[in-house]
Amino acid sequence: MVSRRKGPPIKVDAAKCTGCLICELRCSLRFEKAFNPSKAAIAIRRLVGGENEYEISFTDKCDNCGICARYCPNGALIRGKKRKEVV
Ligand code: SF4
Ligand code: SF4
Repeated sequence: MVSRRKGPPIKVDAAKCTGCLICELRCSLRFEKAFNPSKAAIAIRRLVGGENEYEISFTDKCDNCGICARYCPNGALIRGKKRKEVV
């Protein structure tokens, strides 16, 4: 799954995520030419029981283009050498 992704991986710090969904919107804009979060290669899900805690995951469609990281306003997504998921 991860091996299909190209380019520097996205480092994830879910603790900084506020659930703004800008990353989903920007990613879907790239793939669909429209704002449609359900078509994004990144998924932000609020954790059950956590008021402001989110899980960040990627689908196989993600190729590490870095757009989501570029537009994340909170530093929850950073292009780096090693992808690290913090849930
Ligand atoms: S790196 Fe690119 S393809 Fe992957 S989730 Fe972010 S915007 Fe979408
Ligand atoms: S990862 Fe960044 S852009 Fe995406 S929902 Fe979280 S704070 Fe917003």
